[in-house]
Amino acid sequence: MAAWRLRRAGTALAASSALAAAAAAASAWSSASASDSTPVALGAARQRVTQPGAAAPPRAAQLAALAGSTAAEPLDVLVVGGGATGCGVALDAATRGLRVGLVEREDFSSGTSSRSTKLIHGGVRYLEKAVFNLDYGQLKLVFHALKERKQVIENAPHLCHALPCMTPCFNWFEVVYYWFGLKFYDIVAGRRLLHLSRYYSVEESVELFPTLARNDGDRSLRGTVVYYDGQMNDSRLNVGLACTSAVVGAAILNYAEVISLIKDESGERIIGAHIRDALSGKEFDTFAKVVVNASGAFCDNVRKMANSDVVPMICPSSGVHIVLPDYYSPEGMGLIVPKTKDGRVVFMLPWLGRTIAGTTDSSTAITMLPEPHEDEIQFILDAICDYLNVQVRRSDVLSAWSGIRPLAMDPSAKNTESISRDHVVFEDYPGLITITGGKWTTYRRISSE
Ligand SMILES: Cc1cc2nc3c(=O)[nH]c(=O)nc-3n(C[C@H](O)[C@H](O)[C@H](O)COP(=O)(O)OP(=O)(O)OC[C@H]3O[C@@H](n4cnc5c(N)ncnc54)[C@H](O)[C@@H]3O)c2cc1C
Repeated sequence: MAAWRLRRAGTALAASSALAAAAAAASAWSSASASDSTPVALGAARQRVTQPGAAAPPRAAQLAALAGSTAAEPLDVLVVGGGATGCGVALDAATRGLRVGLVEREDFSSGTSSRSTKLIHGGVRYLEKAVFNLDYGQLKLVFHALKERKQVIENAPHLCHALPCMTPCFNWFEVVYYWFGLKFYDIVAGRRLLHLSRYYSVEESVELFPTLARNDGDRSLRGTVVYYDGQMNDSRLNVGLACTSAVVGAAILNYAEVISLIKDESGERIIGAHIRDALSGKEFDTFAKVVVNASGAFCDNVRKMANSDVVPMICPSSGVHIVLPDYYSPEGMGLIVPKTKDGRVVFMLPWLGRTIAGTTDSSTAITMLPEPHEDEIQFILDAICDYLNVQVRRSDVLSAWSGIRPLAMDPSAKNTESISRDHVVFEDYPGLITITGGKWTTYRRISSE
């Protein structure tokens, strides 16, 4: 049913713009290959972006474009939310030649999109699940994410790069297990491989990662397997997407909140949104043929604006990261423990001259500013101290943050870790399409869908 409605929404979009005919167009202007580009719209977008001195129009112009839409002359798409998903949707739609608006109630990337682990990854863990559960869906997810990993790094090389990640092995079974697993990860990446994974002896490993412990309790290190994923500056990438969308022609406004949705006279279809400009306090209406709800963990709030009886679909899970001094990890090498004592994954990654460590995965309430709890910070410290030869102290924690994963609820799932990280796109009210879940890594794919 949802798929049928979505196709119908696609038809509405196509009808609204001749340029949308090339529906299989590129997901982002900079990544399109010759065969998947929308010749006119994408060409024009490229020209605008590469023009010397290209800059996003001032805020007043963006506001005027949004407020200037009418029921008779609506925008093609109005996006709610300026995170990775929302800005990705705006850029994708604008490069197809559609008239696009986007509103973000805070600043761009102020939600989950700036609180991630900052990895552009296929998901080694999901690959493991795919193999052991014989889950083709998870395998496809990893395959697509690996494809996107390469593309995102190529699109924004000033903000993204390949990062070697070391997996410590404390018995020979682990060496064989991780070696084969990560070789399989390389194989699934295929042509999009960043670098081949390989085994390093204990001596080589401690040379590469001097703070790595040679013993974990009564177990001795047997070596490490190093594989590659990508690392990104998530918030800057997000702001880059917002600015690029604006340069290409979308009306993009931050500090503007959707406070209600506008329905047509019969009440059967969403035709726009009532918006409050947080800077001036003024309210205005924006009309659009389709409203895309990309408000992340808050997507149920927006859905309820259309239908107060809607069943919530977000199962929020909080992920905490902490920032530690630079000496915890060498520059240019991450450490990944796929299974801590309680079976969770822990990362230590070099980040802007410091080390970030994380993450947790626990149920949480949905709030604007989720706070990292002391027990979560302590959990990360306890988890990493087993693998390091330096004293891990609470006083070393320079800062901490928490982000909410907008996981889409699967009623049969027992805990948030077992919920698929795949995204969901559906229209549960005519004219309102909700996009949630997924990963930063796959924002282009999610947006183009
Ligand atoms: C701890 C953690 C680690 C992660 N690590 C990774 C990783 O390493 N790699 C990876 O690929 N993915 C990772 N992810 C997943 C990734 O960060 C998210 O999937 C992605 O950022 C979601 O983006 P979004 O745009 O859907 O949501 P958000 O970034 O939350 O954006 C939604 C926006 O909507 C706005 N909004 C809400 N309501 C309204 C309204 N009424 N009007 C206007 N605006 C509104 C909010 O202010 C918010 O800015 C991680 C997630 C978490 C939580």
